[in-house]
Amino acid sequence: MHIQFFGAAGEVTGSRHLLEGEINGQSFKFMIDYGMFQGGRDADDKNLADLPFNPAEIDFVILTHAHIDHSGLLPRLSAQGFKGPIYCIPATEALIKILLLDSAHIQENDFERAERKQKLGKWRGELPTVLYSVKQATECLSQIKRYDYGQVYEPIPGIEAHFRNAGHILGSAIAVIDVQEDKNKKRIVASGDLGMFGSLLMPDPDLIESADILLVESTYGDRLHRSLKETEEELVTVITETMRHGGNIVMPAFAVGRVQEIILLLVSLVKNGRLPHLNIWVDSPMATAATHLTEKFLEDLDEESQDVYAWYQKNLSAVNLKFVADVEESKALNRIKGGAIIISASGMCEAGRIVHHLRWNPPDSQNAIVMTGFQAMGTLGRRLVDKSPMVKVMGKEISVKASVHTIGGLSAHADQAGLLRWLRGFKKAPGKVFIIHGEEKAAHNFAAIIKDELQWEHVITPERGNLFPI
Ligand SMILES: [Zn+2]
Repeated sequence: MHIQFFGAAGEVTGSRHLLEGEINGQSFKFMIDYGMFQGGRDADDKNLADLPFNPAEIDFVILTHAHIDHSGLLPRLSAQGFKGPIYCIPATEALIKILLLDSAHIQENDFERAERKQKLGKWRGELPTVLYSVKQATECLSQIKRYDYGQVYEPIPGIEAHFRNAGHILGSAIAVIDVQEDKNKKRIVASGDLGMFGSLLMPDPDLIESADILLVESTYGDRLHRSLKETEEELVTVITETMRHGGNIVMPAFAVGRVQEIILLLVSLVKNGRLPHLNIWVDSPMATAATHLTEKFLEDLDEESQDVYAWYQKNLSAVNLKFVADVEESKALNRIKGGAIIISASGMCEAGRIVHHLRWNPPDSQNAIVMTGFQAMGTLGRRLVDKSPMVKVMGKEISVKASVHTIGGLSAHADQAGLLRWLRGFKKAPGKVFIIHGEEKAAHNFAAIIKDELQWEHVITPERGNLFPI
């Protein structure tokens, strides 16, 4: 049997790993995740690159969670001939229905807009890439097979698999795959993305006791997060101060996971008497959909979250939580002169309704902008974090007089300490450990720490395209 890495090797996005082997003379091929490359100039090229395998020969895909960098190229794989099942947790199916269709919509819209401009002579260069259509994304969704955490399934004779909770986002899983190769049984464990221990929204990642082959993520393999307690303190201070001065608080956040975590955190702070009655507007159709979906899968959340939710159901008037329905209502929020908390996507402030809020709120010194996630270079979010006095929003120069805060402790990923804690759950060193899903520096540093602290020997940081016998 061998494994080949086609993404998330020396980088964070594009998770897709091919496993190939033979059972009783029958060859098999399957993928763990099939994600999109995101950000960076060459992401398009990587997404479009010719495949060194025939998609029709892939027997099945095991999907660890819904994030686009793990699921985003599935419709393309299906359109190219993959006909097998895609295994995932029920909540992941519900989430990718939203995420993949949205991704396809955006691609189609961008293309059509560019094409219209081209006809008018207003478009230079190549038209934007469409990796798949809405129709193809819809067709791919019919290949999904759902299994709950702990439920064993048998994709092909000789391979048994099950999911464990990764505590990262709703439906996120660690994949445990047992392959009966001739006389040898090999256990492959793929961590997927691992959540933080002690996070409010999600339960702790399940510990796994044994693996022959381990794939572990390393997004924050070289960093430590601030504690949730510190984050709460920061939020309480910012909100109390801003409210006292009669300002608004604008919080850009990722629609899936982060928005729900912030809502729960705010409600829990009201519940504990740390904050007064709040007026919260959630202004993002995707965040609204993801929040309603989270309510449907409450039992998958951390017990603490379930308690906060139950309290809120009995004390609905303690927090005025509104989901903004349409663009008109969204624009009306710009007329609120104080006392509002506006949570909106996208996370990096580049598109969507958040842009309007960042057009109207920054010039006012009593307002506050609270950044809650990673902001890539070159984005409006990053310029705000870097405290630029002027930023360009919707083609206009805006002066930033509002205070800008960065809340560091909300992360859907375990930090170095969390990752090590998870690795210590293994009773003995796995035969081979592949460090994936981290930028080169993070992956290499984390590999060194594992060798040093856990005394594990076979720790490998693969590069894209690398193939290893296992
Ligand atoms: Zn993820």
